[in-house]
Order: sequence, then C-alpha cells, then structure tokens
Amino acid sequence: MTGPANHGVDKLRDALRSRRLRAEELAGSALEAIARSETEEPPLGAFLSVAGDELLERAVELDRALDKGDEVGPLAGIPIAVKDNICTASLPTTCGSRILEGYFAPYEATAVRRLRTAGALIVGKTNLDEFAMGSSTENSGFFPTRNPLDSGRVPGGSSGGSAAAVAAGLVPLALGSDTGGSVRQPASFCGVVGLKPTYGRVSRYGLVAFASSLDQIGPLGRSVADTATLLSVIAGVDRFDSTSADVPVPGYRDELNRALEDLVVGIPKEYFPADLDPGIAGVCRAAVEGLAGLGAELREISLPHTVHAVPAYYLVANAEASSNLARYDGVRYGARAAGAESTSAVYRETRGAGFGREVKRRIVLGTYGLSAGYYDAYYGTGQRVRRLIEQDFERIFEAGVDVIFTPTSPTVAFPLGERVDDPVQMYLSDVFTVTANLAGLPAISIPVGQMDGLPVGGQLLAPHFDEAKMLRAAQALEQAVADAAAAELP
Ligand code: GLN
Repeated sequence: MTGPANHGVDKLRDALRSRRLRAEELAGSALEAIARSETEEPPLGAFLSVAGDELLERAVELDRALDKGDEVGPLAGIPIAVKDNICTASLPTTCGSRILEGYFAPYEATAVRRLRTAGALIVGKTNLDEFAMGSSTENSGFFPTRNPLDSGRVPGGSSGGSAAAVAAGLVPLALGSDTGGSVRQPASFCGVVGLKPTYGRVSRYGLVAFASSLDQIGPLGRSVADTATLLSVIAGVDRFDSTSADVPVPGYRDELNRALEDLVVGIPKEYFPADLDPGIAGVCRAAVEGLAGLGAELREISLPHTVHAVPAYYLVANAEASSNLARYDGVRYGARAAGAESTSAVYRETRGAGFGREVKRRIVLGTYGLSAGYYDAYYGTGQRVRRLIEQDFERIFEAGVDVIFTPTSPTVAFPLGERVDDPVQMYLSDVFTVTANLAGLPAISIPVGQMDGLPVGGQLLAPHFDEAKMLRAAQALEQAVADAAAAELP
C-alpha cells in the first residue's frame, strides 16, 4: 500500500515544480511499484500492459522543461493509468478480450490526447472485464484483478484494474469507463473516488463502444479534489464525437472552493430498501447525517421506477452491445481463427474462440431483443422504462433537490469466485448505479466508511452537466466522513 503515488496530485505537482521531485524519479518509482505488484504473491493483476523506456524519456523531457521554468500542463509529470478499452497510440488496446490480444489502435482517444497535452505520463493499461461487461474484473480474458485491501476479494468492475491501481498507491489517478457503474462500483469496493460524468461531458472518441448511449469515460482518484482535477482535463466538446456536448466546462478545482449554501440532499427510499444490508445502510445514513451537520437539508424522496432499472439496463445495454460487437469478425480487427474454410467460418470460429462466456451471453440476449417480432417488446420496453426513470429524476430536481445520495453498491467487495457463475447475482451489483447511465446524469462514488474492515461507497447524483455542484457536495461529504472518523479516535 505504499507507493510513490501515495500522495495527492497537488502535493506531487508542488514537489515537481519546486524540483524537490523529478518526473523521472516519480515515473521510475511508479513503474517499479507496478512491477512489484505483479510479482508479489498473489499478484494484484491491475495492469495488462505497462509503458517502458519511452515513458522515462518523456519524463526526462518534462524535467528539462521544469528545470528551465517553462510553462507546463496541469498534470505535468503525474503518472496515470488508463483502462484498456480506451485507445492509446503506444500501448496495446485489448478491452480485456482474447479477440483483441496484441491489438494496437491506429489512433488515440481524445481523453488520452488531452491527458498527454496536460503533461500526464501514461504508465500502463489496466485490466477490466472483457469489453467492460461485468462487476468484478473476473470476466477479463487474461486474469482477474485482486482487491488491494484483501487479496481474496474482487476489486469490483469493470474498471477493477484502474480502481486497484489507485487504491494500491501505484498511481494517483486513473481513467475508467462507466456504462452501468463500472467506475463507481470498483471505486466503492477499493475505497477510492470514482466519477461518471454527464453523458456527453467527456468525448467517447477512442473509447471502444460497449453500449454507446450509456458509455462515458470517468476519472478515479484518491480524493474528490484529485478527481476534479482529472475531470477538468478530459471534459469538453470534441469534434470527433458528435454526442459530446458543447456546454462550457467550469474549472472544477476552483468550483470546490466556492461555498456550498442551502444544499438540499434527496434520499430516495427505493435505494434504502428493507432488505438492504443493515451495515451498508447504517454507514451511508451516518455519512449523510454528517452532511446535515454541515447545514444541508436532508429530504426523503421517491424515484418510483427504480425497481425496473436493472432489467431496462440489460435490455438496452445488451442490444447496443450486440450491434457494436458485430465488428469483431476476424477480418478487420485483432485475432482471426486459423484454417477457416469459408467467410462464415472465419466469423464463427473467430468469434467462438475470441469472446468469453459473458460476452457471448450478452450478444445472444441483445440480438434476440433486437430481432424482428421482439424488438418492441424488449428493446422498445427498455427504452420506454428508461424515459420513465429519467422523468423520476427530472421531477425531483425540479422540486428543488440539489443532489441525491444513495449507497453505491448493495455490498462491499465480495470474495473472488462468489458470483462469477451466477450472472443475475453479478448484475444485481449494479442496482444503484445503472440509473445514472440510463438517465445520462453525473454521479460520483466516495468512500463513506467501512463494514467488516472493507470500504463502503456513497453515491451522489446531480442534474445534467452540474458536476461542479456534485463535486462541491462530494467534498463536503468527504470532509464530514473524515471529521467523524477523527472524532472516533481515542
Ligand atoms: N456491471 C455492468 C455491466 O456488466 C456495468 C458495466 C460497465 O459500466 N461497463 O454491464
């Protein structure tokens, strides 16, 4: 748990600018810490590929610029890990799938390009559930990632490698992607902060598509402030993604210093059901009481269509996935089955051998849901329910609620192997996170306490494009949790 990057981004940046720390030294120690995490027993399994000498060369260049006092970007010299479904120019992009083993993208994601322009050093690509389909990182086509806080448990998923890398102190920041909770749920399981931006806030150009109407790239960090710093760098309209929104991006770090006045926090009863683990409910309620202690008004609310969210999500997400994944046909990308004797055999054998079980399950379900005669009953129903869920939120925000607070996940990190053969149990990990994707809203998970020695995450949701208010509320919550923990010390 000790690594070079075990400091906040501000501290690292000050140390780099004042030249007490050299970018080369920081990058070198991050690479060493990653290597150690992979050779320890059992290995952490957070990375699928790691940068080599070119990273150190880049760090030396930055050191030269810093020595001269040149103007450098806001993340100059900061090591960052990137989920392996986000395209990078110098490292492979496999999506955790055998079908893309060794694949190099011909272009770079906009988010990655913005990171590099800001001076960040991309240390490696992180492990994930294959094509981001899963909640434990056990669906990776290569190996599972372990939770750095308890190696017998999962880190969550699908951005499990990114969350584990941040939690283990290997990097201060990472990018993940969130289609139904894949940034927030692993953040919650690993005790770090994870944010899903408003749909359209961050360009999806170069994010390998899973479900295009739900996918967003999101930042993970060890504090709300660090996460805000990373969001500022990656957010904003991009001409390469027509769904990216031309909405001004506030300076999220400055926004954090603004006073939070008259905050109304909605607490939806559907997210605290009677059968919710009392441990999770207790930790979450105590945390939100802390916000009330800082002057926020807590208001009980209802989002009545929540019960339909998981089925609606799996109808929509699988339908879009079945269409997006049609491109892996053995002709244009990655692996191709050897010795196939006809075009259809190339498709069948490549896809049969290249995709794992969960991906196949979703392609079959999604194709069925889109097929003639079933389209309206399945995909159409999913879309209609999605609209109702969106309207639930609209109504609450119009009634004066600023942010909504919920648990991030109904459980803490579960043991490896516990759910991997029970897809429905795995899907239920996402009950509290899929709604933000269905409605396109921003949401953040922050650590709010522990249960049985494992981290519990609390989630805040805000109106479209109001990440600034959400981050202010999240920072207040982070402070309230820290104050409560300090008060407990003898
Ligand atoms: N766990 C959800 C799924 O398997 C969400 C995945 C994600 O957000 N990428 O679909």
